[in-house]
Amino acid sequence: MKLHVLPAGPIQTNAYLLTEPQRGEAVLVDAPEGIWAEIEPILARTKCQLTELWLTHGHWDHTQGAAEVVRETKAKVRAHEADRALYETPQVMSAFLAGKMKLEPVFPDHWVRQGEKFKALGATFEVRHVPGHCPGNVLFYSPNLRAAFVGDALFNRSIGRTDFPGGSLEMLTASIREQIYTLPDETVVYPGHGSDTTVGDEKRHNPYVSG
Ligand SMILES: [Zn+2]
Repeated sequence: MKLHVLPAGPIQTNAYLLTEPQRGEAVLVDAPEGIWAEIEPILARTKCQLTELWLTHGHWDHTQGAAEVVRETKAKVRAHEADRALYETPQVMSAFLAGKMKLEPVFPDHWVRQGEKFKALGATFEVRHVPGHCPGNVLFYSPNLRAAFVGDALFNRSIGRTDFPGGSLEMLTASIREQIYTLPDETVVYPGHGSDTTVGDEKRHNPYVSG
């Protein structure tokens, strides 16, 4: 399996494309604006079909490429229902956008739950609910890959903003301590913006939430 890190969109949101050429399948984590143009050549080159799109949370910078990806690939979308309004009626976020970006809805096929486990690309993944940056932020953790895709809950030496609607610093701090810092220290944390880190590094050095 190969991981492609693809920052895209107006505020460089990380999309993560997992390709497994032996199975001819791929999974995309998050879908910033314009991501289809980035992943199409990779899928063609690796002869992989995108079967699933996992959305860490409903903020526009993570979702505005989703509708195009679904139209082009018929990928099944997994997301948490607490952000349903953001996915299905994204215009509620227009007040936070300075520009005139047209927001396009995405309709998840499967609402994930805390603790849910499933198989994809031959690996096991576990969903953990990490609200606080927004109500529906989830992470997708794979013990096989020793990796967690955490959205905007935790960053390298930082944490997600909590000043958007539905945000809560207390909730985010609890999510990080209870759902991320309880993962094995060597787990690589792939955040929604910026460079990756590890659980152990953040427990020791994160200036906002100590381990
Ligand atoms: Zn966000």
